[in-house]
Amino acid sequence: MLPTNILDHLTKIAHVRENEPLSHHVTIRVGGTAAGYVVARDLQGLKEIMRVVYDNRLDFIVIGAGSNLLFRDGGFSGLVIENFNVKGGAGDSSVQLEENADGSCLVKVESGIPLARLSYYLSRNGFSGLEWAVGIPGTIGGAVVNNAGAHGGSIGNILEAAYILEPGDVLKQVTPADLEYSYRYSNIRYKWRENGYRPVVLQVTLRLHRESPDVLQKRIMLYSGRRRSSQPSQPSSGSMFKNPLSHTAGWLIDQAGLKGTRIGDAQISSRHGNFFVNRGHASYSDVEQLMNMAKDKVLQGFDIALEEEVEILGNDASE
Ligand SMILES: Cc1cc2nc3c(=O)[nH]c(=O)nc-3n(C[C@H](O)[C@H](O)[C@H](O)COP(=O)(O)OP(=O)(O)OC[C@H]3O[C@@H](n4cnc5c(N)ncnc54)[C@H](O)[C@@H]3O)c2cc1C
Repeated sequence: MLPTNILDHLTKIAHVRENEPLSHHVTIRVGGTAAGYVVARDLQGLKEIMRVVYDNRLDFIVIGAGSNLLFRDGGFSGLVIENFNVKGGAGDSSVQLEENADGSCLVKVESGIPLARLSYYLSRNGFSGLEWAVGIPGTIGGAVVNNAGAHGGSIGNILEAAYILEPGDVLKQVTPADLEYSYRYSNIRYKWRENGYRPVVLQVTLRLHRESPDVLQKRIMLYSGRRRSSQPSQPSSGSMFKNPLSHTAGWLIDQAGLKGTRIGDAQISSRHGNFFVNRGHASYSDVEQLMNMAKDKVLQGFDIALEEEVEILGNDASE
C-alpha cells in the first residue's frame, strides 16, 4: 500500500490505480500487482509525477512499454510509472527536428515515444539512423536505458544526448560515454543503486542523416520481414538472454534441445530458442523455471553462463 498522504498528493495530478495487475503492462503478460500505478502521457506529466515521487522518496520504477521487463509474482510494492506517449509525430512538439547544412539532423524527442512509431515517422520524412528499431515494441526512453539495437544498429551509435532527471529537480545532459554504453548495457540500468535512486530519462536527442524516403522504406520492409520470419508472434519479452561472445543464446538453447519446452503456460518458442512465450496464463514462476532450465543445460553442455537481457523486478510470491 502507498502512504495515504502521497496517494492524495498524486491523485491531484494523475489517475492512480491501486493493486494494478502488472501482467497488463509488460509484453510477456506475467507478474503480480503494483501497489500503485500511474501513467504519464507526456513530458509534463512525467515531470509532475516525478516531483512528488522524489520529494517523498517513494520507491518507484519508470517503465515504457514493459517490453524488456518481468515482474515477479509477488508484484511491486512501490509506484510503477508508465511513461508512454500516445502522440508523437508530425507537427507535434514532442518531436523537434533541427537540420544542419552538412545533411545531418538532430531530432529531440520525449522519452515516452514508441520506437517503432518514431522509426516510421523519421524514415517517411527522409531521416536515416533509426530504421533498425522498427518492430521493437519499446519506447525511446527504454531503448536508451538498455542501449537497444538490431540489424547492426543501436541507440549508442546515434545518441547525441539524453536529458535525465534526478532528485531535487536536477536536470542533467549526458552522452553515450557518460552512460558507459556497451552491448545492451548502460549505467542507468545497472548502477543506479550506487546513488540510491533511479535517474529518469525525460528527453533524447538523436543524430541522423538525410537519405531518400524510398530507400529508407525499403530498408524498413526488409527488417520487418526478417523479424516476422524468425520471431514468434505470441506475447514475449523479446530476447531472454544476452548473446554470449561465441554463439547466439538462441542457438545454444536450441542445441541444448529445449526449443518448444513448456512449463505451465510458459514455453521456449519452437521458432526461436531465445524467445520465451506466454501461451495464455503463464506466471512469472513458470517463466523462471524455464529460464533456470535453459541456464543449467547451456552451462552443462557448453560451459557458458547465460546472462539475462531482460530485467527482473519485484517481490517473490511468498513476500
Ligand atoms: C517482440 C520483441 C522484440 C524485441 N526486439 C528487440 C531488439 O531487436 N533489440 C533490442 O535491443 N531489444 C528488443 N526487445 C526488448 C525491448 O523492446 C527493448 O529493450 C526496448 O528498448 C525496451 O523499451 P521499453 O520502453 O519497453 O522499456 P521497459 O521494458 O519498460 O523498461 C526497460 C528498462 O528501462 C527503464 N526505463 C524505461 N523508460 C525509462 C525512462 N523514461 N527513464 C528511466 N528509465 C526508463 C525501466 O525502468 C527498465 O529498467 C524486444 C522486445 C520484444 C517484446
